[in-house]
Amino acid sequence: MSLGLEGLPGSGTFAHGVHPPERKNFSSDVPIEVIPAANSVLLPLTQHVGAPCAPIVKAKQAVSYGEMVANAEAFVSAPIHSPINGKVQKTGVTTLPNGRHVPAIPIVAEGDQISADQLWEETFGGKWSLNEAAEFAPEKIGAAIRQAGIVGQGGAAFPTHVKFAKNEKKPIEALLVNGCECEPYLTTDYRLMLEASEPIIAGAILAARAVGAETIAIGIEDNKPKAVEALKAAAAGTAVKVCVIHTKYPQGSEKQLIKALVGREVPVGGLPMDVGVAVTNVGTAAAIAGAVLRGKPLTHRVVCVTGGGIAQPKNLLVPIGIAFGELVAYCGGLKLNAGRLVAGGPMMGFAFTDLAMPVTKGTSALTVLTTEDVQKADETACIRCGRCVDACPMNLVPTKLALASRHKDLELAQRYHIMACFECGCCAYICPANLPIVQLVRTGKALLMAKR
Ligand code: SF4
Ligand code: SF4
Repeated sequence: MSLGLEGLPGSGTFAHGVHPPERKNFSSDVPIEVIPAANSVLLPLTQHVGAPCAPIVKAKQAVSYGEMVANAEAFVSAPIHSPINGKVQKTGVTTLPNGRHVPAIPIVAEGDQISADQLWEETFGGKWSLNEAAEFAPEKIGAAIRQAGIVGQGGAAFPTHVKFAKNEKKPIEALLVNGCECEPYLTTDYRLMLEASEPIIAGAILAARAVGAETIAIGIEDNKPKAVEALKAAAAGTAVKVCVIHTKYPQGSEKQLIKALVGREVPVGGLPMDVGVAVTNVGTAAAIAGAVLRGKPLTHRVVCVTGGGIAQPKNLLVPIGIAFGELVAYCGGLKLNAGRLVAGGPMMGFAFTDLAMPVTKGTSALTVLTTEDVQKADETACIRCGRCVDACPMNLVPTKLALASRHKDLELAQRYHIMACFECGCCAYICPANLPIVQLVRTGKALLMAKR
């Protein structure tokens, strides 16, 4: 497929990066199935970047589907809503796949639950008025997004109303929607682009109105021609440009997407708004449309369950707070050769072992790798080949960062901009000496944060 940037000044790609095997065939042709309810859900009070929410329900209280159970007192936070009809249990603590221990509200299902058909219909189905989106009062959009508890669904889980709050000092010219999904295995966004293209377009238009952006563009990698087609059809007659960009990891990262589409470079330590751009993910855009046009809070999300270690890979619309174990059971269980559970994809996801952990708003996938996939080659000494430097999309020197972290030389780590590393894993993927560069960098960053 030839590149089509619809008149945007980018080159369709970014410098460096890697090409890991895509392995999307496990689940790419499996339409999204709906799990409308669970026997119980566990809702962590921190499912987003920012301050935890405060519970507004008590143990033994009955709650309904869509009712707010925890509110956000701080600006950088997002309220949480019940995805089921049920009874609240005593607040406990859960561990998330990233290792954080956070308070969580358990809810046990009671009474009738929303049907799969009804849930699909109100979440992604039916007609979406793109005209209404294009004329919606901008000042009401941010409030609706906040009320619905929407956070970035691509993995970062940043509260969306904060991202789209108008900043008079840093006007936004372009709203970019991320349809790249460059991580191997994952097909969550791909299926959404095929099956929920109208709400994605409506959400993109609304997000652009909220920030006052003139240009609206969706970037999709050239390995997803059907998604390009579906979104082009849905966007016909609107201001939304559907752009095809090169397939390369990590093309779906915010800074790399900005470079590919509009040719601008976000400065080290800066944000997209510093170069007049706001970025959102396709799933987040669909959730924005639901919140603004239908008043729907974020209670469910699409999660791809994939990999060689799961019996029947699927894409599922699931209640937030459902245990990963229920998803595994729904997909026929683990195969005998299942070797590692990863929340997210194999490059940036978190390996975990406890299937009782809950799906959160930022969970894009459960990847079950096989024992062969995770066979670990022994680490050897760095041979100074420089491949990690050539692969780093942030122009960092990963070998130096790993060395500084290993020796706890925080001054050196800072000098080499360790905090600019967004842990994409390109360096570790390419390293012939099998150095655990990302783990070392993560440790170095944690040491620096603790010192601050
Ligand atoms: S890729 Fe690995 S072996 Fe090569 S310079 Fe980087 S750390 Fe050293
Ligand atoms: S140093 Fe960080 S940003 Fe650079 S390739 Fe490694 S993980 Fe990615």
